[in-house]
Amino acid sequence: MPDNRAPTILVVDDTPANLLLLTQLLNSQAYDVRPVTQGAMALAAARTIRPDLILLDIRMPDKDGYAVCQELKSDPETSQIPIIFVSALDDIDGKVRAFECGGVDYITKPFQPAEVLARVRTHLALAQARTALEMANRELQRALAREAELARIDWLTGVYNRSHFYEIATHEFAVSTRYDQSLAICMFDVDYFKQINDRYGHLVGDQVLRAIAQTAARQIRAADCIGRFGGEEFILLLPNTDVTAGVVLAERLRTAIAELRVPTEKGEITATISLGVAGRQPADTSIERLIDRADQALYAAKRQGRNCVVGI
Ligand code: GH3
Ligand code: MG
Ligand code: MG
Repeated sequence: MPDNRAPTILVVDDTPANLLLLTQLLNSQAYDVRPVTQGAMALAAARTIRPDLILLDIRMPDKDGYAVCQELKSDPETSQIPIIFVSALDDIDGKVRAFECGGVDYITKPFQPAEVLARVRTHLALAQARTALEMANRELQRALAREAELARIDWLTGVYNRSHFYEIATHEFAVSTRYDQSLAICMFDVDYFKQINDRYGHLVGDQVLRAIAQTAARQIRAADCIGRFGGEEFILLLPNTDVTAGVVLAERLRTAIAELRVPTEKGEITATISLGVAGRQPADTSIERLIDRADQALYAAKRQGRNCVVGI
């Protein structure tokens, strides 16, 4: 019951006199009562009107209450509706069976009006509390998933942060070593980035960093991943890639960044990057060793004059 409307109660009984009594009783409490006289009608009504509660007779000629209850409980659309059995059957086996097939309560006929109302109120309140709890839980799960995603992402550039990159890279390194597959790491660093900051200010510098990261992220394959390693330094993990193929990708990236025009309030800004690529070798006993060699290749590219690629 998400709003303040009167709870809807489906009442199922093949004896018109019983049906009338129950309907009048519940109407007196301003419930929205829907009376039906057959099991098959009860199933159809439950699916279309989605009542908040069902009062269900057991002995009915077409389909007995147990069968109706079982069908409603096996349909995910109606399985959450609480069902109270109302029956003249007073033997213990019949009552136990009612609970076994999914009923929440059992009232024997002839019933006491006050008892019916008390049980109806209780089960409506329980169902309402369960719905509220489920909603709160779903919201919590969504918030936790969002939180977990944010914890992996570098807020400025939108690519993975260093710690999450390490997590993935460590795993990929173990897999590639175990199955003797190639693996390459590419590191790149923006050339003379300090000058961009000095000339245009930090905010524009941030915009340029974001554009570079996003451009690089678009260039790589789905199996690759990109992380921000430090200030203006980024790192790529390239599974099933040897140093030659890694250099080809790095060269494509270098060109894409060199052609990039970042629109800012200070005009269109261009930048270049230097890239170092290292392919996994038997001597690389850890992901740190491989990253360290990619870093050395990057510094070799810087020494060679920047805006270029070095592979080792
Ligand atoms: P090189 O070609 O040798 O890499 O020169 P460079 O100027 O890029 O290198 P340097 O390490 O001297 O300067 C990097 C600058 O990057 C300094 C630092 O303030 C800036 N920087 C680091 N992180 C950020 C950031 O998140 N935003 C902005 N705007 N600047 C950053
Ligand atoms: Mg730099
Ligand atoms: Mg740097």
